[in-house]
Amino acid sequence: MDGLFLGLSGIDFGKKFRNNRDCAEYLYSIKWAGGYVCTVCGCTSGIKGRTSLHRRCSNCKYDESVTCNTLFHGVRMPLLKAFHLIFRTVCKKKGMSSVELATEVGVQQKTAWKFKLKIKNAMVQESQAKLQGDVQVDETLVGGYSEGCVGRSLEEKTAVLIAVEDIGGGKTGNIRMEVIESFKADIIGLGMDSMVATNAKIKTDEHKSYGKLKKEGRDIEMTKSEKGASLDQLHKQIMCFKLWLRGTHHKCKPSYLQTYIDEYVFRFNSRNARVSIFNSIIFKFMNAVPKIYVDLIVPCVQNT
Ligand SMILES: [Zn+2]
Repeated sequence: MDGLFLGLSGIDFGKKFRNNRDCAEYLYSIKWAGGYVCTVCGCTSGIKGRTSLHRRCSNCKYDESVTCNTLFHGVRMPLLKAFHLIFRTVCKKKGMSSVELATEVGVQQKTAWKFKLKIKNAMVQESQAKLQGDVQVDETLVGGYSEGCVGRSLEEKTAVLIAVEDIGGGKTGNIRMEVIESFKADIIGLGMDSMVATNAKIKTDEHKSYGKLKKEGRDIEMTKSEKGASLDQLHKQIMCFKLWLRGTHHKCKPSYLQTYIDEYVFRFNSRNARVSIFNSIIFKFMNAVPKIYVDLIVPCVQNT
């Protein structure tokens, strides 16, 4: 094991991880990088366990495998395939649908889809920071089939709140997006609280809900929409998200829109650190308490 894998090249990835053992050794070096601590009794003295990829506590004799207490725990496919699924999901600029992933890695589509939920879960944790500074906020509708209908109906479309950091010079910082129940002021207010720092300067359009929030004492600057020109960076993100959703995942029902939003936000926010994305996700896998699939499946259901 010589250092962390950094990069986006599939050839380099294939050289670094040739078999299950390479992957397990990689995880081993991460798991106990800060020194060994027994998860049962807290003892810091450990010896070689049942295999070279286990550590056994000198005190209570608990034998822990490299994947125990991580998101890799209970994953039935070989580690090498799991590594390939992570690499392809996070390192390809636009991501892949689970159908494409399954074909490339050689697993069943359902296996790829289930494992991708874990990857998405790790992605969410990675992009939860609240937005700071100048922040543009707006709401939009995603999906639905009644393109021709006048006005905005929530019946077939899903309401989404979007916040974008404006870092000056026409550049965008980080973004956040959340599915919301409706465009009512209190719902939008809650969405803003979860995505934007309290000291941020918020700029929005003239939707009446923002007026109500302003009256309640929120520091919000409301500008005329001018067909999107006044919140240009935000509207660019809305457009890019909708294009990505249609282009990569083809279809998406309202119940699982948030998981796709999470994936898009993660991709966008880590666009300048793409070479280290694989590792940040592996670290999340190693440091997260294992979640059972059932937890991850709510509220999403099987899609592409
Ligand atoms: Zn112990």
